[in-house]
Amino acid sequence: MLFQPPLPTEYASLTDDEMCAAITERKQTLGSRAVILGHHYQKHDVIQFADFTGDSLKLAQIGAKQHGVEYIVFCGVHFMAESADILTDDDVKVILPDQSAGCSMADMADIDQVEEAWEFIVYRCGVAPIPITYVNSSAAIKAFCGANGGACCTSSNARAILEWAFRRGDKVLFLPDQHLGRNTAYAMGIPLEAMTVYDPALPTGGLTREQVRNFRVFLWKGHCSVHQLFTTQQCDEIRRNDPDCKILVHPECSWEVVQKADLAGSTEFIIKTVREAPAGSKWAIGTETHLVDRLLRTYPEKSVRLLAGIQCLCTTMYRIDLRHLLWTLDELVAGRIVNQIKVDPDTSGLAVVALERMLANVTATPVAIK
Ligand code: SF4
Repeated sequence: MLFQPPLPTEYASLTDDEMCAAITERKQTLGSRAVILGHHYQKHDVIQFADFTGDSLKLAQIGAKQHGVEYIVFCGVHFMAESADILTDDDVKVILPDQSAGCSMADMADIDQVEEAWEFIVYRCGVAPIPITYVNSSAAIKAFCGANGGACCTSSNARAILEWAFRRGDKVLFLPDQHLGRNTAYAMGIPLEAMTVYDPALPTGGLTREQVRNFRVFLWKGHCSVHQLFTTQQCDEIRRNDPDCKILVHPECSWEVVQKADLAGSTEFIIKTVREAPAGSKWAIGTETHLVDRLLRTYPEKSVRLLAGIQCLCTTMYRIDLRHLLWTLDELVAGRIVNQIKVDPDTSGLAVVALERMLANVTATPVAIK
């Protein structure tokens, strides 16, 4: 995670109303020079200023189309800003309002660990899996996948990308979210017995050469700290207390939770499902709390609640607040660029290969994993 220095003291005393008025004014001043992108997990007071909203796939697609703008202010997390920098024209500067807005899942795989895993699986065991990385990963890991015949995926197209990978080889190394990898492979008909977890904390990932030769899918031992808070007990409780309520979860939840759910799919799939559901329908949703809260406000004629009884909050996304957004825009208006996220050209040149494979395998509408 990068360090974000404290903001100048004058920002501390501003009220929310003052900051909202100032952000509106700075946006008008910058006009078409700046575009603000907002991820669905972003809090309401920030996302109201987004020119475009979406999940990581949609924002990557939108970012890639921003020709002619000077700045993309990315209200998301670090890996999303990196992807935007890789996919945009060279003269577009991508800015993350708070540099410490990282992703705990992306931090669970670093490039040295991945290269060590590759060395063991490919060179010492003689097995050549196709490396697939969830877009929630560093640019270096995306570049690694691009250089080794692999691709990126998002939760919206993980299945399409795994199918793409299995047309090119019979084994896959899936990084860094074991749950998305397991849930997707299982939905494709690959049994759990054909999958194993590679644990980077253990020598040789905790695997023997024989195991490497036998398994089809190697799942990196990583997870999302938000989606792991959803449990099978919460599903059981909904079934017991409110049998009419449908359970709809994100595939970063555990396999056990996905099996108990009625439906599972990406953030865009969750939004589409609730949007298209009839009035009066009931939904218990296993994903980030701000998105669930927004669905609840947008569709008051439906009953929407969080699957867990506790707040499941992406604390890193939460670091992007009105204060940091205003400071970023103030600096741009003053002609100073702060918090630019820049991927070096060598990494970018390889990572874009993996990202373009991801973008080439997008379905028109979000697909359910279950
Ligand atoms: S919700 Fe999970 S995967 Fe998404 S940015 Fe936050 S920590 Fe990362």
